[in-house]
Amino acid sequence: MKYANNILETIGDTPMVKMNALVKDVEALVLAKYETFNPGNSVKDRMALKMIEDAEADGRLKPGGTIIEGTSGNTGMGLALVAIVKGYKLICVMADKQSKEKMDILRAVGAKVMVCPTNVEPDDPRSYYSVSKRLAEETPNSWYVNQYDNPSNAKAHYESTGPEIWEQTEGKITHFIVGVGTGGTISGVGKYLKEKNPNVKIWGIDTYGSVFKKYHETGIFDENEVYSYITEGIGEDILPENVNFSIIDGFTKVTDKDAAVYTQRLAKEEGMFLGNSAGAAIKGLLQLKDHFKKDDVVVVLFHDHGSRYVGKMFNDDWMRERGFLEEEVSTAVDLVKN
Ligand code: PMP
Repeated sequence: MKYANNILETIGDTPMVKMNALVKDVEALVLAKYETFNPGNSVKDRMALKMIEDAEADGRLKPGGTIIEGTSGNTGMGLALVAIVKGYKLICVMADKQSKEKMDILRAVGAKVMVCPTNVEPDDPRSYYSVSKRLAEETPNSWYVNQYDNPSNAKAHYESTGPEIWEQTEGKITHFIVGVGTGGTISGVGKYLKEKNPNVKIWGIDTYGSVFKKYHETGIFDENEVYSYITEGIGEDILPENVNFSIIDGFTKVTDKDAAVYTQRLAKEEGMFLGNSAGAAIKGLLQLKDHFKKDDVVVVLFHDHGSRYVGKMFNDDWMRERGFLEEEVSTAVDLVKN
C-alpha cells in the first residue's frame, strides 16, 4: 500500500507544468512550479512546517504550546495544518480589511482568529503587529512565529523548493521568476539555484506601492514608494529580513490591473485557477521576455489557489468597479447570437 502517514507528509514534491497559450510569444521554455498541490493549497505549507520544526528543535516551541502569528491566509493555513497534526494551539491575528471568507477558512481548520483595525500605524497598540507581539508576551507557553524575520522561512525553500526545481529541470533552469512578500521563497530558492549555477538569473515580481524594486536598485528605502495597492501576497512597506537582495538580479513591478487581468487569463487560457500573485508573476515574466533566448528554461512559481479570490479577481463586478475590465457587458441576446 502507498500512503502518507499524515497530511504533513504530502507537503512538497509539487508538479512542474509547461505554460502554453499565455507565453506563445516567449521564445524560451516556460515552466510553472505549481504550489497549489500542497495540502493547504499554497507554497506556505513548506515554510510553516519548517518554522515549527526548527522552533521545536531549539525549544522555542514546547509541547502543547500556543503558536501566534499575524497572517491573513496562506501562512495561517499552513501553520494550522501543522498545529493540528502536532497538537498545538494556533492564534492568527488579522487586520479587519481581510475578507470574512479568509477568517472562516482559518477557523475551519481550528485556528482562533483575532481581528484588529487596519487603519492604524504599525506601532499603534491596536495594530495587528502590536497585538501579535503582546499576545505572545501575555500567553503562557506561546511562541511568536514572525515569518518576515524568521530565517526558517527562507531555509524551507533552500531545502525543498530549490532542490525540486533544480531536479525537475535537470539543472537546465536559466531564470527563476517569483513574487516577493516576506522574501522567503525568492531568497531560499535563489540561494540554492545560484549555488548550483551562479549564472541562473533570479527575478522578483514587485507591485506599485511597495519598496523592493527601488531599494534593490538604489539602496534607498523610499517612503514615497509606499501607498495602498490591491494586489495580494506580494510587495511590502518594510524590508523583511528574509529578503536577501544580494541573490536577486532584478525586480519588475506589475500594476494592480495587470495582476488582476492575468489572474483571470491564467484560469481561462491555461486552466490554471490560481491566486492573484500568480497573475502578477506571469505578467512580470511577459514584461521580461526580451531577456530570454530560445534555449532558455524559465521557471515561474505560482504561490496559491484561485478559490480565495472568487469574490475579487474572479468576480467581474468587482473587476469592473475598479476599471480592470473594459469589455462590454454581454447581454442575453448577444450570448444566444454567439
Ligand atoms: N503570493 C502569495 C499568495 C503569498 O501569500 C505570498 C506570501 N506573502 C507570496 C506570494 C510571497 O511569498 P514570500 O512571502 O515567500 O515572499
